[in-house]
Amino acid sequence: MMSIRELLAPVKTRAEAYRDHGTPGLHAPQDRAKLLAAVEGVLEVHDSTDAIMNPGRHERLVKVCVGCGTDDGNWQHWPCPTITAVTAALGGGE
Ligand SMILES: [Zn+2]
Repeated sequence: MMSIRELLAPVKTRAEAYRDHGTPGLHAPQDRAKLLAAVEGVLEVHDSTDAIMNPGRHERLVKVCVGCGTDDGNWQHWPCPTITAVTAALGGGE
């Protein structure tokens, strides 16, 4: 199975050619569709859900990522690092 970097390399090469020469090329619609599908797949995996933190008297509801956990086995707060990175790449970072 090809790695994500191997799959992304030709798309990146074509995007750079477009940036440098201004011609979108024949693969542009397919590249755009693949990239959108990739991001949508990531968003689906890294969706948020509510979780109860500290069940009992001091419990509170927090948003956590359904696709991530922390190294110590806990839930990852949402937005997780993946969602934060995608948001920033799309220009929505702070
Ligand atoms: Zn996540």
